[in-house]
Amino acid sequence: MTGVRLREVRKSFGSAEVIRGVSLDVPKGSFGVFVGPSGCGKSTLLRMIAGLEDTTGGTIEIGGRDVTNVEPAKRGVAMVFQSYALYPHLSVFENMAFSLRLARAKSAEVQRKVGETAEILRLGDHLKKKPSELSGGQRQRVAIGRAIVREPEVFLFDEPLSNLDAELRVQMRLELTRLHRQIGATMIYVTHDQVEAMTLADQIFVLRGGLLQQAGRPLHLYDDPANRFVGGFIGSPA
Ligand code: ADP
Ligand code: MG
Repeated sequence: MTGVRLREVRKSFGSAEVIRGVSLDVPKGSFGVFVGPSGCGKSTLLRMIAGLEDTTGGTIEIGGRDVTNVEPAKRGVAMVFQSYALYPHLSVFENMAFSLRLARAKSAEVQRKVGETAEILRLGDHLKKKPSELSGGQRQRVAIGRAIVREPEVFLFDEPLSNLDAELRVQMRLELTRLHRQIGATMIYVTHDQVEAMTLADQIFVLRGGLLQQAGRPLHLYDDPANRFVGGFIGSPA
């Protein structure tokens, strides 16, 4: 079963076509990673899946439903931004409760969902703190928590660890793997970092210049790159 399916997806900004006919399937419940050099179109593609950019052509399906023209809030996706997207004046609890409050969830439900999420992310002792009182890793976990409470079908991550130092990045990668095992939702993670892609992905999707170069399991891409670019990028000669 497919979690996210793209068929011949295209995007132009003015006369520049930056996504040039991308078709791919991210299996339901899997961890997919879009990897490629800066400017290849990773963020644009992710934003199109989220519905934050419209498509110039092609179709996007989530859980078997065509969402190409569906508004973002009704796609069943949640995007995780870098941790600086937290509300500085709100507590950790209220940051995570924010979308539930917007949706007018009952107070008991807010308590329960935020409580469960804090448990998963080991933030239970920090719920009353402001983001400024947290470490970088804790802030990043709050940013992830804000997505979890919405119980999306698909989580979308756009280079969420790029602001963190190297040691913390390694730790957060392990956390993300653990989280994925625990929640079992489809996740799509965008990065320009090959190591991050190799360690996180069930499936890697290599992009270059708005085109999909190859899709496959990390070791498959490593052992059998489709072309020189993939070989050079993933780290074994073609
Ligand atoms: P990546 O995330 O892989 O670094 P992006 O998806 O951000 O790449 O960008 C892909 C290309 O699209 C780049 O050439 C970028 O300059 C261009 N682009 C992205 N967003 C816009 C926009 N809103 N208007 C015009 N060009 C854009
Ligand atoms: Mg980007």
